[in-house]
Amino acid sequence: MKQVKPWTLTLFIALLGVQGACVSQGTSSTNEAQDTGRKDTMTYKIQKTEEEWRQLLGDEAYRVLRLKGTERPFTSEFETQWEAGTYVCNGCGQELFSSETKFDAGCGWPSFYQSMDKSKVKEIPDLSHGMNRVEVVCSGCGGHLGHVFNDGYGQPTGLRYCINGVSLGFVKKP
Ligand SMILES: [Zn+2]
Repeated sequence: MKQVKPWTLTLFIALLGVQGACVSQGTSSTNEAQDTGRKDTMTYKIQKTEEEWRQLLGDEAYRVLRLKGTERPFTSEFETQWEAGTYVCNGCGQELFSSETKFDAGCGWPSFYQSMDKSKVKEIPDLSHGMNRVEVVCSGCGGHLGHVFNDGYGQPTGLRYCINGVSLGFVKKP
């Protein structure tokens, strides 16, 4: 079987402008790809109409959290923030990640090596864009957070939760 060279795949993913390979330099400036075409049939405890979500979140957070979009890399203030505190869901306020597990993956999105609690972040297989990825959503409201990759970048778990900053809020440690 013919092997696809890893750099070919990296280039492909970088050009596609979706969360995937960790590219430390150079990035697509037109990252408007959306993970559309998938329906989550789970029922979440926080329920709102699309219009209510749009009002609450504003356009960009609505596009990412509710329409499973991806924010442009290197645009979130949280990507380079290293203060102690807790990252919560921007949709419903549920606690998701601790600053203690945040690390610099160089991907352009806030990255964590584990969630605060497995019950708070739900993982869903995502085969969109011809890739085999695992989407992560908030278990409280079903809001799209990003993807988790088992690529060894995040130590000690080997996992990299690549999260859209616009999907998060931050509660500073008192
Ligand atoms: Zn939520």
